[in-house]
Amino acid sequence: MRQSRPLDSGTVYNSLLTVPLPGFLRSIAERFTNDVAIDLGTSSTLIYVKGKGMELREPSIVAIDENTREVVAVGTEAKRMLGRTPAGISAVRPMKDGVIADFGMVETMLRTFINMVQRRKLLVRPRIIVCVPSGITEVEKRAVRDSVEATGAREIYLTSEPVAAAIGVGLPVDAPTGNMIIDIGGGTTEIAVVALSGVVTAASIRIAGDEMDEAVVNYVKKNYNLIVGEQTAENVKIAIGSAYATGKEEAMEVKGRDLVSGIPKTIKITSTKLRESLEEPVSLIVDAVRLALEKTPPELAADIVDRGIHMCGGGSLLRGLDLLIKEETSLPVFVAENALESVVRGAGRILEDIHLNEKLVTRAK
Ligand code: ADP
Ligand code: MG
Repeated sequence: MRQSRPLDSGTVYNSLLTVPLPGFLRSIAERFTNDVAIDLGTSSTLIYVKGKGMELREPSIVAIDENTREVVAVGTEAKRMLGRTPAGISAVRPMKDGVIADFGMVETMLRTFINMVQRRKLLVRPRIIVCVPSGITEVEKRAVRDSVEATGAREIYLTSEPVAAAIGVGLPVDAPTGNMIIDIGGGTTEIAVVALSGVVTAASIRIAGDEMDEAVVNYVKKNYNLIVGEQTAENVKIAIGSAYATGKEEAMEVKGRDLVSGIPKTIKITSTKLRESLEEPVSLIVDAVRLALEKTPPELAADIVDRGIHMCGGGSLLRGLDLLIKEETSLPVFVAENALESVVRGAGRILEDIHLNEKLVTRAK
């Protein structure tokens, strides 16, 4: 990664001339650009536009033509093709476990998404903040930087995902108090204690929403001889999945293919059975939370006892997961109001005044 440079105080480069503009032109130029903050997630990509708010949420999926390797669709359109793609087209998720798995595809995907939020032809290229997981390596960071740079960014800043999540949830990250934030996404669960605008302790496990879907696929196969796709498993998980028995039991029909006969078949699964299927990934997440609490310095642990644990990310919406973690840790647990948007909203807050938030970002270009 390039050495991080200090922020230059508001220099705007014209995309053609690439020379610094004088002050009055700069203020005009800034009106013709849309600076953005991006949460590049394993499951979905979200974009916040400065001065406007969250403007885009699309699945991080790309559909490609297998022969030409050309991208045929991205986002929602590509997701529709997942698992039921016509011959010769395959849908791929170019982000894996929170990091870039396919550089070229991430670049194409990002360019498309950024174009979607930039409605008119712009005079000045945007400034972009990207959130990166706390445990990311320098090589992985460089891949993020390069793919963002290829979309035509003028300046690139990286910010830590847990810090952005904590800001998005509304926690006072700059205070000396410790706050625990758990972000359960598609590929990873990130557990962090944030204080004084930085990450004090962080843990990341590659068990999150995707593993829950896989657990459902395996359970249904083993217990019902039924093969279901991951999309079906995810739908069932979201509809009636849970981590804790709350008394209200439901059932749902699940369609798939019989393991033996190969013929389409429908079964009925109850929320009790589904909870059983989710037990393993859920308990691994709970174990990781417990371990992170044990590793937290005593002073900050005391803060967490007072303030509780805050959760965000799509996986935190699994019914009863908050109750289970509360029971297992004896601490108060809160699920963020906009759990799917906490990270991008936090990054958006940083973007609104990047100079004021200098401590929270690293300049990468
Ligand atoms: P990422 O940051 O990795 O892109 P997200 O925060 O968008 O991930 O979360 C995506 C995960 O959350 C997926 O595995 C999805 O199935 C899961 N998810 C979304 N809504 C719910 C819900 N209501 N209950 C359980 N899981 C959910
Ligand atoms: Mg995320």
